[in-house]
Amino acid sequence: MSFFNSLGRMNRAPARPKRSTTPTSATFPSASDQPPSSPQPQSNGGSGGTKLLYLCSPFVDAALVTGNFKTIVMLPKYVDVMEWVACNVFDFYQNLNLFYGVISECCTQQSCPTMSAGPSLNYTWINTDRKHVQLPAPTYIDYVMTWVQNLLDDENTFPTKSGRDFPPSFPSTAKHVYRQLLRVFAHIYHAHYTQILHLRSEPHFNSLFAHFLAFGKEYELLDIKDIKGQPGATVGIGALWERWKETGILDSSTKS
Ligand SMILES: [Zn+2]
Repeated sequence: MSFFNSLGRMNRAPARPKRSTTPTSATFPSASDQPPSSPQPQSNGGSGGTKLLYLCSPFVDAALVTGNFKTIVMLPKYVDVMEWVACNVFDFYQNLNLFYGVISECCTQQSCPTMSAGPSLNYTWINTDRKHVQLPAPTYIDYVMTWVQNLLDDENTFPTKSGRDFPPSFPSTAKHVYRQLLRVFAHIYHAHYTQILHLRSEPHFNSLFAHFLAFGKEYELLDIKDIKGQPGATVGIGALWERWKETGILDSSTKS
């Protein structure tokens, strides 16, 4: 990430074709949404006593970037912090969307009937009646990605023209986006890591995710409980977070 990337947002073009399936039947989960109170056991990739592939050597430490991500996420001189956050959220979204696009044919209603992210964790969506509903992972992810794309295209939320300020709600919106993108990462790690390995993309995917985590912590866009989950419903990637702090990929001084 460089200063010039932050300028690049000014001329951004949607790399992803707009989807026609706007999720009119669902609303975005509120900041207070929680994992389901009675999580369903998962059959696809549960730990079951065997170590998860993404936590095994050499995959766990595969990365494009050596060292710590601290310097990459630091605010460049003369750049507004809102602009910096917007630019990075835009890039994380685009990159994650590319990865998901590649593995999406393996993420179907049959293979992923729920938005799973751990041996006993399925994320729920909040519908228009404010009820938590289980959705197949591809539907859930389509809702998330469509919602984020629409936000990014909304000049009132992510202003790109000079002279326009970010709205006061921008930090809260960025946190919402971050939480949902984290869930997409968590699902891919939990349910589709073998496909990432088959593509030999684990260094790229790990680096993208480590960058995402480091940035999210630096600008307080992430809650630790979203990374680790809750007792009985732990998020698979919580172990990655711990491992990367031990090995120095992530800043170990981070509170958790
Ligand atoms: Zn899936």
